[in-house]
Amino acid sequence: RPLIGVLALQGDVREHLAALRDQGAGAVAVRRPEELAAVDGLVLPGGESTTIAKLARRFGLLDPLRAAVRAGLPVYGSCAGMILLADRLLDAPQDQETIGGLDVTVRRNAFGRQADSFESEIDLAGLGGGSLHAVFIRAPWVEEAGDEVVVLGRIVGGAADGRIVAVRQGNLVATSFHPELTGDRRVHALFVDIVRRRVAARPAQQAGVAAG
Ligand code: GLN
Repeated sequence: RPLIGVLALQGDVREHLAALRDQGAGAVAVRRPEELAAVDGLVLPGGESTTIAKLARRFGLLDPLRAAVRAGLPVYGSCAGMILLADRLLDAPQDQETIGGLDVTVRRNAFGRQADSFESEIDLAGLGGGSLHAVFIRAPWVEEAGDEVVVLGRIVGGAADGRIVAVRQGNLVATSFHPELTGDRRVHALFVDIVRRRVAARPAQQAGVAAG
């Protein structure tokens, strides 16, 4: 059973823990570098990305997080988590730090103040097709995605029609919306599957050491 951490510095941690357990994964809160080192995958929850980045720096987690992403740790970022995974930001404070790793340009608070919180249908063409009912809270969107990035989902309808709100690049997944707040578990299922495959591909000895 893969063990997946949820970065628990700020944001909606409990909902992600529950969603991951729904998918048969072990799930633990991560606040310290030792805890990060023990997990097979990590979720970056929604919250306030500037606050999460500052706390990560203060808790000595920012550089270990960057190293973990570089080493191929599967990471799923929702909303603020998407911002933290982005290589480039728009409408962010000059000094906002990120973890990076995802070759995208992400615009913070992209849907405007009038749309602080709203729900919309998503076309999940890149995730098995069909649509998903998504909850957005002061959400970012992906303004530009690099060649290696697979678009999983786009907004359907309204002023933001066609905007990219779900992406994957290798072991990294990011969504603008909050699937942990709805019963739809397809995004968490995809992520747990990515983690399972990586654990299965790991040499037995190394897996044993990690488990011990
Ligand atoms: N607007 C927030 C930020 O910039 C993200 C909001 C969220 O995670 N729900 O960090």
